[in-house]
Amino acid sequence: MSICEMNVRQVAAGVREKKFSAEEVFDKCLERALLHENKVTALITMTADTGREQAARVDERVAKGEDPGPLAGVPVILKDNMCTHGIRTTAGSRILGRWIPPYSATVWKLLSSAGAVLFGKANMDEFAMGNTTGSSAFGPTSNPWDLSRVPGGSSGGSAAGVAAGYTPCALGSDTGGSIRQPASYCGVYGLKPTYGLVSRYGLIAYGSSLDQIGPFTRSIEDMALIMQIIARHDPKDSTSVAENVDFSLPLGDKDGSIGLKGKRIALVKEFQGFTLDPPIADAMKRMVLLMEEAGAEITEIGLPVVSRYAVACYYAIAASEAHTNLARFDGVRCGLEAASASGLKEMFEEVRSKGFGPEVKSRIIAGTCLTEPVRSEEYYVAATRVRTLIAAEFQKAFEGVDAILQPVTPSLPGKIGEVDEDVMKGYESDLYTLPVNMAGLPGLSFRVGYTSARLPVGLQLVGPRWSDKNLLDIGFELEKVLGVPQSAFDTAACNTTSFKGGN
Ligand code: GLN
Repeated sequence: MSICEMNVRQVAAGVREKKFSAEEVFDKCLERALLHENKVTALITMTADTGREQAARVDERVAKGEDPGPLAGVPVILKDNMCTHGIRTTAGSRILGRWIPPYSATVWKLLSSAGAVLFGKANMDEFAMGNTTGSSAFGPTSNPWDLSRVPGGSSGGSAAGVAAGYTPCALGSDTGGSIRQPASYCGVYGLKPTYGLVSRYGLIAYGSSLDQIGPFTRSIEDMALIMQIIARHDPKDSTSVAENVDFSLPLGDKDGSIGLKGKRIALVKEFQGFTLDPPIADAMKRMVLLMEEAGAEITEIGLPVVSRYAVACYYAIAASEAHTNLARFDGVRCGLEAASASGLKEMFEEVRSKGFGPEVKSRIIAGTCLTEPVRSEEYYVAATRVRTLIAAEFQKAFEGVDAILQPVTPSLPGKIGEVDEDVMKGYESDLYTLPVNMAGLPGLSFRVGYTSARLPVGLQLVGPRWSDKNLLDIGFELEKVLGVPQSAFDTAACNTTSFKGGN
């Protein structure tokens, strides 16, 4: 097995046991990225020098007989909205095109103290607004499984980097689906943790009450390992909760057959009336059969408020929070400078007009209107009230249920350029992901199989708050049948379930 095909645990074990060095791992991954990056463009910044230095330090520690940590020498890609001390962090925007943060996000501090090395900063939709990575000021990213298609977004670069085998894991952020949707499009695992479980300190905010950082991996065990490291209370994030979710517990019987006995899995009644691309509908049917055979009890729940109001409500709240969060980018403290402005107002105008792209501007305008004193009661405040109803509806639904099985998206990844044109369709396609953020729930996106054209097909498990580990337990059982996700450039033929129809 080549180093690029290894998962997080295998890389770290190899480095700690001196089977290969961290520098060797880094160079192999770099070689792989240099081979494919001109086609995929997953990264905004490749941190070759910093990464190699960090790898050399890991090797020094191993040589001295010290333990560099559970992620010894594991190269990691971070979405470019996570601050990295001394390394450009752009949030996919021109306005931060040359910004070098003076501090690092808590997640990166935790990963690097566990021995991880920085591979690069991933491309993303500008300020995480979008679902194709096409709104990045740095150009689009391609889906490694079909270069003419989008990788999803907004964390498309992180998902594509893992799917292309540059690194065995990456971090993304999910405000309304931005980890789970690209994970599904790129055929890897993506977890949106319970809100408050992972620190947001150093994450460039989009919608602060919805944003959450989470991992992309190619195995469930890796997902548990990364979560064990990053799911920590952080006094620097006032919404970080000291709740203890123990990811170090065993995931289940490794060698046993798939066992879902006692797990109560629900399907959402209202969702069943909505159209899905045939391979996704097929995947849902197969997964229900598989889970039933493995002993799970399949039930049905109703989410009428979620299915009717979540999309409108989410976009009202997300835009309102975004317009406040983005007010700080004015050319004074950081970011683009206005060379020719004659006064303060002119400077703001110039910096923000040139610095923000069209999607970001439209959301700032929407957020400004929705929160104006005369309108805010009718729109923003109303949306927050509906949000409470959404959270309550989920809470009630979870009384007799461990997890919901549902699609991630209604359709498979579309062609680059084409999908961005239909903005309303893009917003509506977030129906299966964004309610999870509205209620602060965890959601796991997992790869079920591939279409005959080798496009990955994913589904999603959603659980009550703090049930993140339980979702991984279920995912671990399913992995026994579905196999681990592969990287796109390693497989001549995908040997897992393939689906009829689709692309
Ligand atoms: N597509 C959604 C949006 O544009 C979700 C994005 C995200 O999760 N960051 O708001």
